[in-house]
Amino acid sequence: MSEITQLSLTRIWVTTKHINHKCTQMNTDILNNKESFQILEIKDLYVNYGGIEALQNINLYINNGEVVTLIGANGAGKTTTLRAISKIVNPRQGKIMYSGRNITRRQAHEVVQLGIAHCPEGRRVLARQTVLDNLLLGAYIRSNQTEVRNDIQQQFEMFPRLAQRRHQLAGTLSGGEQQMLAIARALMSKPKLLLLDEPSLGLAPTIVREIFSIIQNLRARGVTILLVEQNANLALQIADRGYVLEAGCITLSGAASELITDERVKKAYLG
Ligand code: ATP
Repeated sequence: MSEITQLSLTRIWVTTKHINHKCTQMNTDILNNKESFQILEIKDLYVNYGGIEALQNINLYINNGEVVTLIGANGAGKTTTLRAISKIVNPRQGKIMYSGRNITRRQAHEVVQLGIAHCPEGRRVLARQTVLDNLLLGAYIRSNQTEVRNDIQQQFEMFPRLAQRRHQLAGTLSGGEQQMLAIARALMSKPKLLLLDEPSLGLAPTIVREIFSIIQNLRARGVTILLVEQNANLALQIADRGYVLEAGCITLSGAASELITDERVKKAYLG
């Protein structure tokens, strides 16, 4: 597997406004004028499913080391945004830049090799395979088996419940344990950018807290995270910045600390 050893990161000045001409997009970004590195930049992205326009003129960026959250109602286009980045779907128009490379037309396995891992909504663990086999599957692009074994050990340290259940079939794990396995499996490809889709979905509050503390732990280890989450309150509490998606358009973006107090966000997503 060829992993990026040196990121050719694009040095940019974060622009003060991101105006989406088709969808009105307001920005309350406090990072204005801060010099930073972008690990991901999406420009004017459109995605269609047949005749359905799921994403329209999406513009977003993620700085290296950030946790950025995408919030929005059901069907707003959050999952589609992640699928476009991990190349599960192909954009109709627009550009996706990752670490200075244009990945718009790359294949799914290529973007994994470049350092992007997608932890999908609904966990999607292989139910009839053991925890260990699921983890090995996550490392399928890697050839150094010693490193893979060491990393499995690391996952077991981070997720002790998985260590205790390493020979258990994934389908017999609880929902929270399956979510942990899905995250651990994604981490087995050694991603620089982790796309996390609805990690709290259907989980009890104590497990949700555990999962969110793991996300914070990952960020402290230097993993950049794009988090899709229906629990906007929790997501905005741990994120640096956020984007609000409505009917396939970004309508608002900015620092999470500002979005969480924004009256429009409060009314629509924070109950
Ligand atoms: P949710 O929070 O319910 O998961 P979402 O914000 O992630 O929603 P998407 O799953 O990205 O939204 O869906 C965006 C739009 O694209 C929706 O109108 C949805 O019906 C449509 N869509 C998603 N996947 C497909 C598909 N495979 N075929 C056709 N339409 C699709």
